[in-house]
Amino acid sequence: MMPIDQRRRIGCSVQWLATIVRHVTSEVRFAVDRMLGRLATWLRLIGEDASWGAHLSGQALLRHASTQRRIVLTRDRHLLRCQSGPRVVLITSDHVREQLRQVVELFALDPFAHIFSRCVRCNQPVETIAKTDVRDLVPSYVFATQARFARCPQCRRIYWPATHHDHVHRELEVLTARRAPA
Ligand SMILES: [Zn+2]
Repeated sequence: MMPIDQRRRIGCSVQWLATIVRHVTSEVRFAVDRMLGRLATWLRLIGEDASWGAHLSGQALLRHASTQRRIVLTRDRHLLRCQSGPRVVLITSDHVREQLRQVVELFALDPFAHIFSRCVRCNQPVETIAKTDVRDLVPSYVFATQARFARCPQCRRIYWPATHHDHVHRELEVLTARRAPA
C-alpha cells in the first residue's frame, strides 16, 4: 500500500496537469490595484486572470479595466465614485487571506478548479511541456524527481508540482473550509 502522503502528492500532480490541459476559461477578469500585489499573486495562483502592475492605480487603473473589460479590485474608496466606468469592488480588509476570501465568495470562485494553471509572474496561462524538453532548464534534482512540467509562454519560467503546492493547498483549505481535491 502506498503511503498516504505519496498518494496525495500523486493526486495533486494529476489534478495540476488536468487544470493546465484544460486551460483557463474563467469569465471573470480582474484589474488589481497596485497596492494589492499579494492579492493579485494569490488570484493568479488559483488560476484567475488578474492584471497587476506598478502603473495600475487611480484613473490609470480605471482606464485599463475599461479597455480590457476587467473588474477593478481596490482599497481606494475614491474609485467608487466612478459612475460610468468599469465595475469597482472595494476590498475591505488589510489582510491578504481576508481579501482573497472576499473575492472568492463574491464571485463564487472555486479556488481549486484552475489552481496552478497561470504564471504568477506575468499572468499568462502556462502550457504543458515534455520532460525531455526541460532537461537543461531545471536543476538536476528536479529533473530526476518530477514527472510533469509546464512553461509560461511569455517569461519562459518552468513550473512543476513542488513543496509550495502543499502550502498553497493548506491555505486554500483554511480559506474555504474545504479539503483540496485529491
Ligand atoms: Zn510568466
